[in-house]
Amino acid sequence: MPVFYPPVKPCPCGSGRSYASCCQPLHLGVKWSETPEQLMRSRYSAYFLQDTAYVLETCHPEKRPADLDLNDGIRYTGLTIHEAVRDEVEFSVTLKTPDGHTHRFRERSRFERLGGRWVYVDGNVSIR
Ligand SMILES: [Zn+2]
Repeated sequence: MPVFYPPVKPCPCGSGRSYASCCQPLHLGVKWSETPEQLMRSRYSAYFLQDTAYVLETCHPEKRPADLDLNDGIRYTGLTIHEAVRDEVEFSVTLKTPDGHTHRFRERSRFERLGGRWVYVDGNVSIR
């Protein structure tokens, strides 16, 4: 089960909008993401809220991990979108591991539209 997050609070993805008017409708399945960037943001928020089902269902069926544990003590502390062009989004994520260390990685993700719905295909990660 995802963590409860008050809909009126700023969306975890950092858009500056409330959760209710940003990623929540996507998480609830009320709306589909219109762009790869929107999907990327909602997937980040899903990691933040430990919404495993959403992360899995927005993966390309052929690339979907068999299982995924988001209850791993990692806290997601920031998302920066660097570039969103056609079906690719480049972003950085900062996170804190249970031992208190802060990490930052940068990824260029690829997305594909399947049956009218954007899904995450894969990405190139650089850890720094
Ligand atoms: Zn959002």
